[in-house]
Amino acid sequence: MTGTVTNWAGNITYGAEELHRPATLGALRSLVAGGARLRVLGSGHSFNEIAEPGPGGVLLSLDALPPAIDVDTAARTVRVPGGVRYAELARRVHAHGLALANMASLPHISVAGSVATGTHGSGVGNGPLAVAVREVELVTGDGATVRIGRGEERFGGAVTSLGALGVVTALTLDLEPAFEVEQHVFTELPLKGLDFEQVMAAAYSVSLFTDWRAPGFRQVWVKRRTDRPMPAFPWAPPATRALHPVPGMPAVNCTEQFGVPGPWHERLPHFRAEFTPSSGAELQSEYLMPRSCATGALHALDAIRTVLAPVVQTCEVRTVAADEQWLSPAYGRDSVAVHFTWVADMAVVLPVVRRVEEALESFGARPHWGKVFAMPGAVVRERFPRLPEFRSLVEELDPAGKFTNAFVRGVLGG
Ligand SMILES: Cc1cc2nc3c(=O)[nH]c(=O)nc-3n(C[C@H](O)[C@H](O)[C@H](O)COP(=O)(O)OP(=O)(O)OC[C@H]3O[C@@H](n4cnc5c(N)ncnc54)[C@H](O)[C@@H]3O)c2cc1C
Repeated sequence: MTGTVTNWAGNITYGAEELHRPATLGALRSLVAGGARLRVLGSGHSFNEIAEPGPGGVLLSLDALPPAIDVDTAARTVRVPGGVRYAELARRVHAHGLALANMASLPHISVAGSVATGTHGSGVGNGPLAVAVREVELVTGDGATVRIGRGEERFGGAVTSLGALGVVTALTLDLEPAFEVEQHVFTELPLKGLDFEQVMAAAYSVSLFTDWRAPGFRQVWVKRRTDRPMPAFPWAPPATRALHPVPGMPAVNCTEQFGVPGPWHERLPHFRAEFTPSSGAELQSEYLMPRSCATGALHALDAIRTVLAPVVQTCEVRTVAADEQWLSPAYGRDSVAVHFTWVADMAVVLPVVRRVEEALESFGARPHWGKVFAMPGAVVRERFPRLPEFRSLVEELDPAGKFTNAFVRGVLGG
């Protein structure tokens, strides 16, 4: 495919004029062994230059490779090719009476791209989507296949890898028996006196939304598994109509509300697979901090509410359980994740991103790898204590630096 290649949001135009789409593993191996610097583009839902191969580099999509999704019902696992998106995977898995433990806000994103950036949903007991991965298959710079499984020392760097180790051609994921979820939306939850721990633990997955135009949260999305007790939610009144997290956007784009039970993959994401997720014209940023800092961090943001309000479409607060991927923003700490959907104008958004980073500095905020952040590399490196091990893994698997781009160099330093 030739012509201009952009990310989903349209704020990044990749330097490569061509998007290579090998149709066989053999063609992929030859392309990789060909010598040029190379990056894979997943579904392009990241908002920064993480997928940019750089001058003369090759941009590669895996969506023409055979899309065989192999479900092993006895082992409760699924082997997913590197280009598959969650919507397709979820439908296939559900048809076997099985489920993924959690999903992000949208099913449109690729599995490999999502786990590479530490993508997550919400839930005090739910880690990032990468926790489901039990094995990664990579084509490395010399065209060889490398498999890295859970339990191996280097697995800690293999999943949330920023695409820096090689082409992920397949992932094997854990599954569990299919379950149903019902979604209840509440409105006007005050920040003053908020018992963050209790509110976020009220159900399997809870999200708070605010546009910072007034104190407190405009919406609370509570996703209850029907095989778990019905939560009391005494802190805010229920919504009286279906809502979209971005004020003014049509609720028809969103998954069913008002407690109608439905399959896990049609309730855990906020947005339906067949509609545009979020607002479409936007930029995004997100920071993860220890969950024990949540109230302090939310008050620090409330203190700059008047700076945020003009450029925020919506802000979502979630929880993410600690995981063990070295580059995961939730590495080693149960986290609160504060996400911003900004207006689609980098010039006005970037100064506000810097204000947010200042406000959250004392909480040790780690950026989401797929979103806009302004933190210098040196600060990023301080916040990811296992980064030296990751750097060694990059040197081991990609000694020629074929998969290293400016974004990765900025993160790794040195
Ligand atoms: C509307 C919207 C909603 C979002 N909601 C959430 C959310 O709920 N939670 C959250 O955490 N994030 C969310 N995000 C961010 C998103 O999940 C991440 O940006 C994620 O990386 C998207 O996956 P992708 O396939 O589009 O990745 P891309 O942007 O295509 O790529 C991301 C990285 O993965 C690498 N990569 C992709 N595929 C491969 C492969 N096969 N082999 C090697 N490297 C690969 C790329 O080179 C790049 O470095 C959202 C984004 C949008 C646009």
